[in-house]
Amino acid sequence: KFSTAVAFEEPITPPVQIDYTQLLINGQFVDAASGKTFTTLDPRTGDVIAHVAEGEAEDVNRAVSAARKAFDEGPWPRMTPYERSRIMLRFADLLEKHNDEIAALETWDNGKPYEQAANTEVPMLTRLIRYYAGWADKIHGLTVPADGLHHVQILHEPIGVAGQIIPWNFPLLMYAWKVGPALACGNTVVLKTAEQTPLSALYVSKLFHEAGLPPGVLNVVSGFGPTAGAALASHMDVDKLAFTGSTDTGKIVLGLAAKSNLKPVTLELGGKSPFIVCEDADIDKAVELAHFALFFNQGQCCCAGSRTFVHERVYDEFLEKAKARALNRVVGDPFKKGVEQGPQIDSEQFEKILKYIRFGVESGATLESGGERFGSKGYYIQPTVFSNVQDDMLIAKDEIFGPVQTILKFKDLDEVVQRANNTRYGLAAGVFTQNIDTANTLMRALRAGSVWINCFDIFDAAIPFGGYKMSGQGREKGIYSLNNYLQVKAVVTPLKNPAW
Ligand code: NAD
Repeated sequence: KFSTAVAFEEPITPPVQIDYTQLLINGQFVDAASGKTFTTLDPRTGDVIAHVAEGEAEDVNRAVSAARKAFDEGPWPRMTPYERSRIMLRFADLLEKHNDEIAALETWDNGKPYEQAANTEVPMLTRLIRYYAGWADKIHGLTVPADGLHHVQILHEPIGVAGQIIPWNFPLLMYAWKVGPALACGNTVVLKTAEQTPLSALYVSKLFHEAGLPPGVLNVVSGFGPTAGAALASHMDVDKLAFTGSTDTGKIVLGLAAKSNLKPVTLELGGKSPFIVCEDADIDKAVELAHFALFFNQGQCCCAGSRTFVHERVYDEFLEKAKARALNRVVGDPFKKGVEQGPQIDSEQFEKILKYIRFGVESGATLESGGERFGSKGYYIQPTVFSNVQDDMLIAKDEIFGPVQTILKFKDLDEVVQRANNTRYGLAAGVFTQNIDTANTLMRALRAGSVWINCFDIFDAAIPFGGYKMSGQGREKGIYSLNNYLQVKAVVTPLKNPAW
């Protein structure tokens, strides 16, 4: 049963045109060395939106050379931090000015609701750029007291050329998390966007150059993982690699970094985050936030609350309300006002999600709502809820990355802690309780990089984000991101006079 049909009409024409489809190298839009292009598709229909230059190893070499030159000779690392900060702030002003076009491009290429892109994601991008612009002139070293007659200074220097590989689920936020701290610290960047969503990064990077970014400081290469991505990860002249995507690909890029020049790597990978509803929780609020935690962004969130653990005493009430909420979720053209859920990113993810739904049914979980594609065109999937889910079912173990909520029953706190932590992942967790002791116990016992208590998906620029276990290495956002992009140099000089 699925009742929230928004009638399928012709797709709404996106209120934006596509101006930039080439690679951005050394401040210029250029074709790929091979002349090749690939298509980026509209997830609402599967139709081609644009032909985009397909970067490969040779293009990555060109981009890294430009970034190297801009780092070694160019003005960026040598500018005063205040000047860097002002360029980043001018960029943020341009982002604000073009907020709606950027959001439209993001919706068109990715399928996420336009209202979400325009009211949340592009403003978050702007906020993150301002946040890191604010850091640019506050990064400094230390002097430390040492034994003996020595004056010891610790310099914090930019690390060099940063290679950055991002996924398709939040193209602009991933751009901000990567580019913001790297550039604030005075590095130069080669960014490899996801092949599903190349458009918005090209558009905003053009604005960055309009704001005064010197050529070569930020290079954007569109293209595929095994070619462009692998070339970047294994490049001998890239000093640092930052990656967001699947755990499997994370292992590959870490290996490539190790086999080439041992560049340090930060990884932000997958998750299977528990969302724990205790018996004393405010059930209506918990239902709404559990729904949001899973279905937000079509379920395509690395930190999605994808294992909803509910205490046995409130399980039946929770389930009935969670099912009703899913049945009321508004699915449709993401450009349409009021739509909460658009299509999945592409046919591969669409098929993978439907396969997991079949696994859920076959393994004996109860399908409460949804379970099928929505409409007959594009990659829409009905909001799906499973109850009676057991820990050893594939739908409770693997990252589905789609609109599929799995609800599990628990009896007591020790049990739920053990089950919540019984996963290879450790990205995030949600806790719903009115009891401070329960909150404190769970908050400390859960092995996850973020724990949201009576809330979920709070992504302030200043809050660090990252995973335990196979959800990643290192932290992004906040002050923690800066260390990823800085070298530490200890400088020692003899002292003549101990008193001075
Ligand atoms: P992916 O890991 O394959 O892609 C992420 C990025 O890595 C893309 O830019 C891609 O081109 C690049 N890449 C792929 N193979 C590469 C290689 N061999 N060397 C270097 N770079 C490479 O992820 P995906 O295929 O887009 O999605 C698959 C799964 O990943 C999803 O189902 C989901 O589970 C997970 N995922 C997680 C996140 C996250 O934020 N943690 C984001 C997107 C996808």
